[in-house]
Amino acid sequence: MVNGERYARQTVLDRIGAAGQEKLAASSVLVLGCGALGSAQAELLARAGVGRLILADRDILELHNLQSQLLYDEKDVRERLPKAEAAARRLRAVNSSIAIEPVVADVTAANVKELLARADLALDAADNFEIRYLLNDAAVSAGKPWVYGGVLGSDGMVLAVHPGRGPCLRCLFEDPPEMGSVPTCSSFGVLNTAVAWVAALQATEALKALLGVEDAGFKFSTLDIWRGTVSSVAAERRADCPCCGGRRFEFLDSKRGSSSSAVFCGRNAVQVTPERRLAPDFARLRERLAPLGAVTFNGVVLEFTGGGRRLVVFPDGRVLVNGTTDTAEARSLVAKYIGS
Ligand SMILES: [Zn+2]
Repeated sequence: MVNGERYARQTVLDRIGAAGQEKLAASSVLVLGCGALGSAQAELLARAGVGRLILADRDILELHNLQSQLLYDEKDVRERLPKAEAAARRLRAVNSSIAIEPVVADVTAANVKELLARADLALDAADNFEIRYLLNDAAVSAGKPWVYGGVLGSDGMVLAVHPGRGPCLRCLFEDPPEMGSVPTCSSFGVLNTAVAWVAALQATEALKALLGVEDAGFKFSTLDIWRGTVSSVAAERRADCPCCGGRRFEFLDSKRGSSSSAVFCGRNAVQVTPERRLAPDFARLRERLAPLGAVTFNGVVLEFTGGGRRLVVFPDGRVLVNGTTDTAEARSLVAKYIGS
């Protein structure tokens, strides 16, 4: 039984009611990305009483995140916490009656199906198109809904994907944009109010899906919060869609997303992923690196600064090399300092 008092303002809504609240309590949602959109979505769903939240993010907090990422504070940045971990700590304090699972990892073709298998639906809060197309494949193949959301400047867009009933992402946009052809939030900027609006729309679509609400049609919404405009166009399935029509899951099946090094979107950083993902021996690593530069370990990630570069080592073995976009340099620094 869910706590009646906690959700009194929500169960009184005839759209939800006590029965709807029980449904939410029995639901699981995967929030893919704990940046600006993911922070707002996760907080809304945690407060609404969704029973289980799986929060997946590969990154650690930086000071510039505080402008738009509502769950975090300066202490989290000082502690260099991974976003998923900081989000889980904050949300457990907000609502101790739900289960919150932080997943500090890169979401790739290797783990997206397993993550989605534990959830009833997924919310997209990713910072790159590769993950969205991967999630689209995984969700359509599993027959689970997901909600696409994007925000840039004061503009945003939202599409709720209901496999088998409505269009998928590839029905509307068959291929992701060429890498580098679309501006990113770090180069173009983002208004935090636009983030909150898009996240609210996505979270609402998630609540409706969990409650079993079926809208009459499917729509793709674009909005501009500066002008105060929202426009929605009817979105249709395409019979020749390679994903939901042809059931060809090209992003899941390809090796895309599992590459061993990748330039972080819009960041002066390269992520290096070891071939065999093993948990690092942080104690030994710390001892070995101490004579070579500044080392800190916050219980989750280890940070090493030396030779003008900052390396962050994650529990899943990934290393984020800050201060360069040169993958060869990043890989050689990882080989030099961390080993493989
Ligand atoms: Zn489709």
